[in-house]
Amino acid sequence: MARSTTHLQEETHRQSLEDPESFWGRQADLLHWHQKPSAVLRRSQKTLKQSGVTHSSWSWFPGGEISTCYNCIDRHVLAGRGNEPAIFWDSPVTNTKETLTYSQLLDEVEVLAGALREEGVRKGDVVLIYMPMIPAALVGILAASRLGAIHCVVFGGFAPAALAQRIDASRPVAILTASCGIEGAKGPAPYKPLVQEALRLSTHKPQRVIIWQRDQVRWGPTRRSEGERTWQSLVKSCRARNVRASCVPVASTDPVYIIHTSGTTGSPKGVLRDAAGHAVGLQLSIRYLFDIHGPGDVVFTASDIGWVVGHSYIIYAPLLAGAATVLYEGKPVGTPDASAFWRIVEEYGVTALSTAPTALRAIKRDDPDNLGFKKIGARGGLRSLRGLFLAGERSEPAIISAYQALLDEYAAPASQGGAHVVDNWWSTETGSPISGRAMFPQVPSAEATDTDRTRQVPPSPIPIKPGSAGKPMPGFDVRVVDDNGKELPRGETGNIVMGLPLAPTAFRSLWQEDERFYNGYLKRFQGEWVDTGDSGFIDADGYVNIMSRNDDVLNVSAHRLSSGALEQAITSHPLVAEACVVGVPDALKGQLPFAFVTLKTHPHPTSAAPDRSLEAEIQSLVRSQVGAIATLGGIVQGRGMIPKTRSGKTLRRVLRELVENAARGEPDKELNVPSTVEDAGVVLVAREKVREYWGARRGEARAKL
Ligand code: AMP
Repeated sequence: MARSTTHLQEETHRQSLEDPESFWGRQADLLHWHQKPSAVLRRSQKTLKQSGVTHSSWSWFPGGEISTCYNCIDRHVLAGRGNEPAIFWDSPVTNTKETLTYSQLLDEVEVLAGALREEGVRKGDVVLIYMPMIPAALVGILAASRLGAIHCVVFGGFAPAALAQRIDASRPVAILTASCGIEGAKGPAPYKPLVQEALRLSTHKPQRVIIWQRDQVRWGPTRRSEGERTWQSLVKSCRARNVRASCVPVASTDPVYIIHTSGTTGSPKGVLRDAAGHAVGLQLSIRYLFDIHGPGDVVFTASDIGWVVGHSYIIYAPLLAGAATVLYEGKPVGTPDASAFWRIVEEYGVTALSTAPTALRAIKRDDPDNLGFKKIGARGGLRSLRGLFLAGERSEPAIISAYQALLDEYAAPASQGGAHVVDNWWSTETGSPISGRAMFPQVPSAEATDTDRTRQVPPSPIPIKPGSAGKPMPGFDVRVVDDNGKELPRGETGNIVMGLPLAPTAFRSLWQEDERFYNGYLKRFQGEWVDTGDSGFIDADGYVNIMSRNDDVLNVSAHRLSSGALEQAITSHPLVAEACVVGVPDALKGQLPFAFVTLKTHPHPTSAAPDRSLEAEIQSLVRSQVGAIATLGGIVQGRGMIPKTRSGKTLRRVLRELVENAARGEPDKELNVPSTVEDAGVVLVAREKVREYWGARRGEARAKL
């Protein structure tokens, strides 16, 4: 008899696409509604005012009313789970730890929401949040949601110009901020000059700036005439008068928040998140993908509240499930060392750890043999860990295999289902993973949730395939198409797109920019598909492989080469720690791939060009793994020269500009470095390296003449 090879994850995915109404209707039943929706999904046509273009649109749970704050907090307290931990704040940079139970969180949020209401915040208003990783930030976010306001969190490390741009784009009535942030081991960074400069630059002026005073650096006296207020004083006054706010529900399709995309391409776009779809989709993903079900489970998402990962998996999803979340004010390395993540897993009994591969690379650089992991693992400190979730950029197969081996040895034992590395692919626009390996591939339902928890061994996830980001998640219809929108056969590389409607957590438009939404995401494929901006392939077994952003695709003699594939080949060399490939203009071939390479150990003194034998070895890896067509046009070696965004994405565009300028003989031309850059000094190092490399190359050319 033929054995069915369909895995539960695929079956679930099929059901979610074939019958979205009943699939998502069952998920919606797991939440509290102030008003039940009249339908699960409504498809419609939308005509754009300016261009007159009509395109397909949709709405999830129309007619419903919901409060995300109620579902995250009140619901659990009312169910008698008020004493369970909600937030573990761990701040090595201030030497502080704090636990907030669900009851304490409710108390803080109720009072702050009361204070914000007194300061003029109403349903539908925008509240901008520019905060470090402290509990007050989460309280602020949840208090805004409690009032039915729309929050817009701006990463607390952004410079004034970037903040001003986001103030003008979102037009908040109030800004919640703090007196300082603390950047890793660098010490406190006062926010006052940043916020005041941003408000000087912005055209829009909010009515209120509410400041959380931290002990490390005080804001100084607040200027009342400028709308400045001290957060703690407002709360104290409200508490004394017992001023509290109850939850204000919003329509399902009202936004719960605006988030600006990280800006690796173009100016930031204000992605809108619908209240109901967000809550329903996240409560599914946290159980299904992350295997987090409620009290006793601990989520540690090592990201920042300013990024989508932070919104979804530091704040909302763990709280929707009634689990605890770790809020970590520190870095993967240097606060104080490369064991920080593993220390946290042990200390709080973390069950799901999410991070970006770049953090693991940083840990590897400081602790190449993973001694920190092994030391804590050897004393059983990592047994609680069931999942290591990687997202934000492509994970090279080597990193996945290495961590899977570590988890097999030290994390949750096989008798409890084991522990898995889960590469999950998603974007700010989608709000939750588009693909991954469901850790608990059984869809929760109102009847089944509690009994599921008593099971000993969960159903296994789909087998791991290092280099792939798993298979599609419910509601995401993922396809690979050519430039005309025609679907490509399995295994062929092309544009990765998604069919309509998108899953409930995903956006349906941009904040006050419907035309830009259409032009940026739907127009390219005539409204049939949503363009993810990524390219890659789906293999014969249905695994999704994300190889690069489309703007990172190289065109060499009319062959499309993905920078990801080339970087993978280069990093398979044992001496190479990291690689970044960009295209150099070439008269003959259009573009030639050019590599920036960081070695695990550097020769002293380092020259910009690697020695001949290393160069030959790297070239041969590229030729054997990608093809002769991909032969590199040059390799620059160095340390600290691959710039990243604050959220850990490689800024290929900046390196590409540098190389293009050098190739045109303009190495000093000003670069367009986005405000999201983590460390602008890295760009200067790269510029020097490129200059040195090109200088030597010109010399070589002359010698040949
Ligand atoms: P952002 O919206 O800033 O979070 O960036 C989203 C982009 O990050 C995606 O379009 C991908 O290019 C990239 N990305 C996110 N997760 C992954 C992953 N697991 N593998 C490869 N690329 C990823």
